Amino acid sequence: MERLPVLDKGFIELEEWMGGDAAVVRAARICYQSVARSADADERLIRRELRREPKVNTIFEHAVLRWHIKCPIFVARQWHRHRIGSFNELSLRYCIAERAYYVPENEANLDEYRAHMEASFDLYERLVAAGWRRERARAVLGTGVYTEFIWTVNAWSFMNWLTKRLDKAAQWEHRQYARAAYRIWQGIMPITANAFYEAVLKPLGLEVEE
Ligand SMILES: Cc1cc2nc3c(=O)[nH]c(=O)nc-3n(C[C@H](O)[C@H](O)[C@H](O)COP(=O)(O)OP(=O)(O)OC[C@H]3O[C@@H](n4cnc5c(N)ncnc54)[C@H](O)[C@@H]3O)c2cc1C
Repeated sequence: MERLPVLDKGFIELEEWMGGDAAVVRAARICYQSVARSADADERLIRRELRREPKVNTIFEHAVLRWHIKCPIFVARQWHRHRIGSFNELSLRYCIAERAYYVPENEANLDEYRAHMEASFDLYERLVAAGWRRERARAVLGTGVYTEFIWTVNAWSFMNWLTKRLDKAAQWEHRQYARAAYRIWQGIMPITANAFYEAVLKPLGLEVEE
């Protein structure tokens, strides 16, 4: 499955998916007991469903995606606010934290920032070596430290996340994950992804490219 690098040390990877555009078509067609009568009928159906208001959201819930994400903890905290989906995250109660933290580009005082991050990891490692429980020693690490989680989400909830996290009001770092996710998703659900861009993202002025 495709993995795209995001930020300096992160990534997003689609581990598994189910249904795709075909599941959306199947769910819509059972409503009407209809069949495709032309080559582009399914594509037109999805485009129509994404343009209409109110949308029949449940037809998009039959397509499911499982993502593997590595991102700074501050991005993960925002991500996990999206309740419609399932998350499991690397635990710093059970695992030793990897010395991997986000370093932004084009900021002043980056040497000072790096020194602070390194010092926090030095202290963390000293505390663990001194017998501190990992779950307590981690308190000295900041939210720029990388974490990993898996996220299983249906296409409707995924589109809600894209709409909110591609918005210019969303944090730049989170937007980079949303853009990479859109690119991968477009490869496996091209009809829905393109129709969603035309019907929802573009009218809102939300761009999927830098
Ligand atoms: C730019 C930006 C800034 C933000 N700033 C803050 C902030 O400062 N502080 C903060 O706390 N949060 C903040 N958030 C998080 C935001 O409030 C949402 O928690 C987050 O975006 C998840 O959105 P959601 O509820 O639509 O997603 P999900 O939780 O996945 O829910 C999907 C949809 O299901 C429905 N739904 C789910 N649960 C309920 C429910 N209990 N009742 C009714 N309907 C429900 C809603 O229609 C919802 O849109 C921010 C988000 C963004 C994008």
